Amino acid sequence: MKLVIDGAAVSTVDAAGTEHATGHVIVVDGRIQAVGGGAAPKGLDAHYVDGRECLLTPGFVNTHHHLYQWATRGYAQQAILFEWLTELYPVWGRLDADIVHAAASAGLTRLAQTGCTTAADHHYVFPSNGGDVFAALVSAGERVGIRLHAIRGSMDRGVSHGGLPPDNIVETIDGALAGTADAIGKYHDPAFDSMIRVAVGPCSPFSVSEELMRRGAELARSMNVRMHTHLAETVEEEQQCLAEFGCTPLEYAERLGWLGGDSWFAHGIHFSDSAVEKLASTRTGVTHCPSSNSRLGAGIARTADLLGAGAPVGLGVDGAASHEDGGLLQELRQAMYLARQRGGPAALSAREALRIATIGGARVLGREKEIGSIEPGKLADLALWRLDGFEHAGIADPVAALVLGPVPPLALLTVGGRPVVTDGQLTGVDEEQLAAELRVASRRLAER
Ligand code: ZN
Repeated sequence: MKLVIDGAAVSTVDAAGTEHATGHVIVVDGRIQAVGGGAAPKGLDAHYVDGRECLLTPGFVNTHHHLYQWATRGYAQQAILFEWLTELYPVWGRLDADIVHAAASAGLTRLAQTGCTTAADHHYVFPSNGGDVFAALVSAGERVGIRLHAIRGSMDRGVSHGGLPPDNIVETIDGALAGTADAIGKYHDPAFDSMIRVAVGPCSPFSVSEELMRRGAELARSMNVRMHTHLAETVEEEQQCLAEFGCTPLEYAERLGWLGGDSWFAHGIHFSDSAVEKLASTRTGVTHCPSSNSRLGAGIARTADLLGAGAPVGLGVDGAASHEDGGLLQELRQAMYLARQRGGPAALSAREALRIATIGGARVLGREKEIGSIEPGKLADLALWRLDGFEHAGIADPVAALVLGPVPPLALLTVGGRPVVTDGQLTGVDEEQLAAELRVASRRLAER
């Protein structure tokens, strides 16, 4: 099983930032065997793909999402986070496995079409009569064919316990932990070329008790998986944390055992200088979600400062209810723009944005040895972007064309060398069928 991509510009995103104006990649049995400048050797017993007028990058890594939200887009259009959640929780309380499967299939399809080959999904809503929604998520991952990091989320702090979600969509502490351990036992695959991993994900400090946060971290470490939660997203969250616990969200997380190289936080907007240093020194990861943060007016993350300090930083499109576009490539530009609103036009370059989206995300998910750059021995998760249309013609720098220009079509997207997108079309998903499933799912949620 050999694949050769020949004649493309190549941005390897290796440690030295190696690029080839014209180069090639040879893939054998799902792994990258060779990458280099110039033409590929001729006459190999391989499938040759013509990469001329294209840019080859590593597949992108999405480190935070809520795929089920693809079925609840367009709600609460002018709300801050807490108002937005208050409107949406009751809708999400009516989720079931069919709806999650349709929504997750659509969300993953959108991710694949915008260059994503590994996606983390944080699923934390488990209605008692909704069926096996986690299995529905996992099967959507198999359907679309990209790598899935399924985070088994949870909430136990309903309104009657001072939390934000209604009581009917929270679990008990023991129920949430048992469900999480079960999901890890059933689906988590630690192998190098794993298509699915599971992480532990109590939802956020304002929907989860201290005990569930602490015991969730203990569970993750006892089962040798990663842990993930939302943190420091809004000013209101920080105010609540200070009032209730007498500390900042990051201090709270530290107190509960949540800092370390096996943990990552979504958003991470409202951090002090010392918090930024703490994240870097503990190697705790941060997912930057620029479009969602902008949609909800939550603030501008300190991306350049986090990178400068050496903290792992990846990108996240976040759930589609706060980012209706749901595309990942667009987030590179959005991350640049927001960083520049904070720190001026040199704050984040196109290449730095590409780095966050690829090897940065791989590091956040603990997979930097396997994915995130085009280097021999790594998995062949590759995105081949067409830059020959009028939308990009004439831009001499292909990386600038990709990151600053419109979203180009994918000539090819591979996961472990297998084609997931060819000539802009998903290989395993019928998009018309997907649209029909999604219309039904969204209507059922809205009408129930
Ligand atoms: Zn989120």
